[in-house]
Amino acid sequence: MRPKFKPILKPLMRNGDFLRVGMETNVYDLEDPDGQIERFLSSLDGTLTIDDIAAASGLSGEEVQGALETFNELGFLDDAAAPVGNLTERDLDRYRANLTYFTNYSTLEQSKLEYQQRLKDSTVAVLGLGGASLMAAGLAGLGVGKIIGLDCDRVELSNLNRQYIYREDDIGKLKTDAVAEHLRRLNRDLEVVTYNQKVTTAESLLDVIADADLVINGIDTPTMIASRWVNSACVHLEKPMLLGGVTNNRLLWQRFLPHSHGCYDCFLIHCLRLDPDAAMQLRALYGQVFESRNTAMSPHVALLSGFITSEVAKHLAGYAEPMLPSTTMEMDLVTMAMKQSDPFTRLENCPTCGAGKHERAGIEPVELEELIQVSQAEALQA
Ligand SMILES: [Zn+2]
Repeated sequence: MRPKFKPILKPLMRNGDFLRVGMETNVYDLEDPDGQIERFLSSLDGTLTIDDIAAASGLSGEEVQGALETFNELGFLDDAAAPVGNLTERDLDRYRANLTYFTNYSTLEQSKLEYQQRLKDSTVAVLGLGGASLMAAGLAGLGVGKIIGLDCDRVELSNLNRQYIYREDDIGKLKTDAVAEHLRRLNRDLEVVTYNQKVTTAESLLDVIADADLVINGIDTPTMIASRWVNSACVHLEKPMLLGGVTNNRLLWQRFLPHSHGCYDCFLIHCLRLDPDAAMQLRALYGQVFESRNTAMSPHVALLSGFITSEVAKHLAGYAEPMLPSTTMEMDLVTMAMKQSDPFTRLENCPTCGAGKHERAGIEPVELEELIQVSQAEALQA
């Protein structure tokens, strides 16, 4: 072990007899009239073993151990000798800022490198390479080891106002080809697998997402039906799913853990139960294709992409708790105010993840009218 005082906590600040450590959160004012703590922390540059530190500081090995324990509990220390695992020299250089960020969460026992290794060992499926193409690029930046992309469209000029990983010379190319080329140029260590495939059933997604640790749904048409296909496939294979969308002036995003929490159909049933107008709205929107009223602009899509890839990073690397599952995060694009809904529960009668799933053959979602009936039955029971 070679304890290192975390660079994110520098510079140390002196205020009379007190030493201040930290600036943003967890700010500590330590009584240090003779500068002993300051000298001790400053000496922990990650090159010294505990014996070296004892020799340099004039403290006994036991005293050094005690001090290290205290400062480790305060979150000041990282182990510069932690094993690098399967990270290469290039990884350590490329992801230097990631690794420094992870020192917000590392300790002498919990290595920052482990968080990056988990990302490298992960596979994420990005279904739909429209706005979500930015998320694919974000995942490549993060260092997610394998990215699976699916789309059936070609790049059009009108995509470039927001899907700005594409270039003018990509126009006319398959999005899957253009994304694969872009990701490989961005990060040659990535594994990229693409499917040029139109999604028309849940069943057709099973092979695509089979290897994924997490699925991002960026397919928005036909409205709601596409999300229900992805949801059914994720429920069947117990894959965590994130989805998001841009409406006129709102961003919405959700995280689903279908093996333990409510699924997307539970969410729809929940909406139907709560809002007497929901059935009318869902019937009007359901299955529609709304290209003519697409209002997505680049800052909005970039924000959504950032929020979702941030959740992916927390989910896969595990350095912090992701957003609660089965909740909706919402951002007002005018005021930038954010709110999070209460979690909706997993419904016993959900035809997709609850008892109802055993009563139907296959994994295709039930008709909307059946969901509406389930919501009415649920409302009667409630
Ligand atoms: Zn459900």
